[in-house]
Amino acid sequence: MGSRLQVVDRVPVSLTNKRTDTEWPRSLTHPELVSLGWKPQSINEFIVKVHSRCNLSCDYCYVYELGDSSWMSQPASMTPEVAQAVAERIGEHAQRHGLTSVSIILHGGEPLLLGSRRLATLLQIFTDELEPVTTPVFGMQTNGLLLTDEVLQVLDRFDVEFGISLDGGGAANDRHRRRRNGAGTYDVVSKRIVAVQESEYAPLLRGLLAIVDLENDPIETYEDLRSFRPMQLNFLLPHGNWTTPPPGKDPESDATPYGDWFIALFDHWFNSERDEPKVGMFDEMIRMFYGEESRSELVGSCSIRLLTIETNGAYELVDTMKSAYDGAAATNMNVFLNGVDDLLVQPSVAARQLGATGLSAGCRACPVVETCGGGYFPHRYRAGTGFLNPSVYCTDLFKLVDHVGAVLANLPSGE
Ligand code: SF4
Repeated sequence: MGSRLQVVDRVPVSLTNKRTDTEWPRSLTHPELVSLGWKPQSINEFIVKVHSRCNLSCDYCYVYELGDSSWMSQPASMTPEVAQAVAERIGEHAQRHGLTSVSIILHGGEPLLLGSRRLATLLQIFTDELEPVTTPVFGMQTNGLLLTDEVLQVLDRFDVEFGISLDGGGAANDRHRRRRNGAGTYDVVSKRIVAVQESEYAPLLRGLLAIVDLENDPIETYEDLRSFRPMQLNFLLPHGNWTTPPPGKDPESDATPYGDWFIALFDHWFNSERDEPKVGMFDEMIRMFYGEESRSELVGSCSIRLLTIETNGAYELVDTMKSAYDGAAATNMNVFLNGVDDLLVQPSVAARQLGATGLSAGCRACPVVETCGGGYFPHRYRAGTGFLNPSVYCTDLFKLVDHVGAVLANLPSGE
């Protein structure tokens, strides 16, 4: 879950790069996992793919445009029968592990392609099945195009908080976030955001999510997004890895284009005297600087307690793994045959719950590892060794973490 400097800069996708069990972590044995201190932990966040197609054709999309083609074999939408089985499996897991709440994030493709009526049907199934055993906390990530009044009423009825993907102002957003016919989406999405913000449904909109594009000036991008008065802004690094590097990133070079981009943004945001929205990555870094644990898998080395469930009921790892290679997120298990606990012993799930002991030797010896955490798991991939590597963004992350730490350390006491 990258932005492209130009379409001609795009790295060719290799669909021959199939899953191999000789790569880490699929190569891990249970004795090895135990020796690394592995203890299975329950799953408390489920990304549920309720629609597997999209009404956009963004050129950096990890589902459709990068290393994985599994969406082609998925049914377009989740049926009530599959949703019932999904809800039963999540409920069973929550009850077994005494989870008082579980997070259910509706995702796609574009989840709102379901339409308001089918969306309500699925949410009702999840609610009916889960409420007797746990509290379902619903969320959704959408491109915003289909946020109609009917949809908002449904989201409000089930208290579904949501984020909208928008990469910046018109030019910045429409460079990548386009319809299939090439038309930009900024005009429609920006109107939808304003309409939500001016409506009674405004509290449901939790924030905006942008993919970083080095062609966009960080401060201009931030100010364009800030003009929508979001509670939170999240800036994500474009997906890429050592084998298929992100746009504008030469992993063999010491250049830190993404680190520099984020540092400019951090300084602008941190030194502002206005009331600024939260910025997800910076908030996490600041929390960790003051001794708290990371709540995000983007930075820090927290245990990952998240699974994805596809429209046909197949369990997958976090679906951004699809940016690495064809089948990288697959588990070969599904809700009709397997409970969630069956997943916990899979090496690829277990490895993501190892925290710092599941990092490469280079990361474990790194002075900023506590805050960086080796970077986002999918960005560590290298064909041949798998995911036991520092992030392809290593130099950028080091520079950013070091900078944020220095700024915070130099604050006058009491601030
Ligand atoms: S900066 Fe690089 S070596 Fe250090 S923890 Fe992050 S990815 Fe690993």
